[in-house]
Amino acid sequence: MVIDDIKKICVIGAGNMGHQISLAAAIAGYKVSCTDISLEMLDKAASFVQTYLPERVAKGKLTQEQADQAKNNISFTQNLEEAAGDADFVIEAAVEKMDIKRKLFADLDRIAPPHAILATNSSYIVSSKVADATKRPDKVCNMHFFNPALVMKLVEVVQGPHTSPETAQVTMDLCAILGKTAILLKQEIYGFVVNRILAALKNEALLLADIGIATPQEIDIAVTNALGHPKGPFALMDLTGIDLTYYVGMEKYQETRDPKDKPSPLVVEKFVKGEWGRKTKKGWYNYE
Ligand code: NAD
Repeated sequence: MVIDDIKKICVIGAGNMGHQISLAAAIAGYKVSCTDISLEMLDKAASFVQTYLPERVAKGKLTQEQADQAKNNISFTQNLEEAAGDADFVIEAAVEKMDIKRKLFADLDRIAPPHAILATNSSYIVSSKVADATKRPDKVCNMHFFNPALVMKLVEVVQGPHTSPETAQVTMDLCAILGKTAILLKQEIYGFVVNRILAALKNEALLLADIGIATPQEIDIAVTNALGHPKGPFALMDLTGIDLTYYVGMEKYQETRDPKDKPSPLVVEKFVKGEWGRKTKKGWYNYE
């Protein structure tokens, strides 16, 4: 398989990441079918397309013809068979839960054509944890986008021990067509590069807030002003989802059973309250 063989992309999940990855691929000229178990999320994603494309045309970033083409390229469905049955490349961006991802990869292996590459956008889970749920581990890899996926340039592609060089190459080529800057990691490591570095910062920030040294807002002020980061760790968590921070912590703790991997008490409190950041209009900050 070479990059020119890819005509249709299936994106699993229409959440924070999935809807933007879908639109990025549709703008790049691919037929895209985005699927989610939630009709509400699919409706939200479809209305995002309706507002985003005209805005890009108004800003001169897309021609009307490109916007029309992108709109025609993208479709939304709750039906996994319809979305993946004729896909050449699948990007899984469903919720960060191992059991859900393993089930999805087993289903995708049954549904997607035998030549299709199955990539996961997981933030932390290496693809060898899902590749063995399929009969095509050579066609499974990580393809990790950043939030917001229409804006952020970096993609981390991870070639696991099971991934063929051809799969890694096609995935890197796809990143280039999507206008992304990709790095290829040839060894699997939990959290890859960026999230490992970010986790170190985030864990320290949460510890400082947990023990009352500074508030989340003060810590963000410190990090943005002194380290030059565009967003502090708490504002970033609001963007990426505090629920995601919670799930990532729980997944890691379930694997290691090391108490230090448990989500911080502040994160657990926010998770239980349903204050997950921008998506719920309240997190560390208020977005009403
Ligand atoms: P999200 O909660 O916003 O969206 C996840 C979507 O998956 C939801 O709409 C949910 O309905 C859907 N879903 C759940 N089970 C499903 C299934 N069986 N089939 C189809 N859809 C299903 O989550 P998100 O933030 O978009 O994260 C998605 C993935 O992307 C995760 O693996 C996460 O680690 C990764 N990721 C997230 C970010 C981020 O900043 N949020 C960045 C990079 C990667």
